[in-house]
Amino acid sequence: MLNILLERLRQGKRTVAFPAAMPPLPPRFRGLPVLAESPCAAGCASCAGACPTGALGADEQGLYLDLGRCILCGTCAEACPGRRVSFSRDHRLASSTRDGLVLRPGGRLPHVAPLEPARRKLFAKSLRLRQVSAGGCNACEADTNVLTTIVFDLGRFGIDFVASPRHADGVAVTGPVTRNMLEATLGTFAAVPDPRVGIAIGTCAISGGLFDGSPETTGGATPHLPLDLYIPGCPPHPLTILDGLLRLLGQQTPPPTA
Ligand code: SF4
Ligand code: SF4
Repeated sequence: MLNILLERLRQGKRTVAFPAAMPPLPPRFRGLPVLAESPCAAGCASCAGACPTGALGADEQGLYLDLGRCILCGTCAEACPGRRVSFSRDHRLASSTRDGLVLRPGGRLPHVAPLEPARRKLFAKSLRLRQVSAGGCNACEADTNVLTTIVFDLGRFGIDFVASPRHADGVAVTGPVTRNMLEATLGTFAAVPDPRVGIAIGTCAISGGLFDGSPETTGGATPHLPLDLYIPGCPPHPLTILDGLLRLLGQQTPPPTA
């Protein structure tokens, strides 16, 4: 026991300073995609053709990348002969609207609007979430669960996960919402007392992700629940999730370090 206490003292404080400061991200971290404003070569659709989730395309406004479908695999950056697609180290991917996840060349960051005053007053200092694992691969759950460890210490922001939807203020859905999980997802949300918050964590929960189109899945939480926050990534980095949650509650978060 004494050795454990001594080791704990030796380690000192382990909790990251976020949001006061931005912790270092791993060298291979891939953040917000960036679309260059330079024109595509005539007739080229190499990036869209290479994308496994249909996240890239072109419409009357030109090239777009739907972050709500993107799994940040990086294939498009390699496929584009003109190097129009690249990846920044910006972890701030969350948006309070689904449309806000559609990126354009020279476009702005996805925006998280704080909850309106009535819900913000209720939840800004105490937000309890029921997590619904709706058929994903469990990586989104892992990166959500890690927020409750000593490194991120989610509880210091008044945010926590609870077992019963009756004790929750909102629902955080992960996974593409399989047919088997649809009723449970809807029932869990309905069991949370109003007013409540709806959050989709991970590309699967936003659009179905890699599983979109499978007859066993239903397109994520987006078609089924009123959502206040969309957090892309496959899975999202824990700081991407934390950043989205804090901004939803009206807190400031830091930009990425170079
Ligand atoms: S990084 Fe995103 S947009 Fe690019 S190929 Fe992968 S899924 Fe598609
Ligand atoms: S978004 Fe990616 S990491 Fe999350 S459940 Fe789906 S496949 Fe897994």
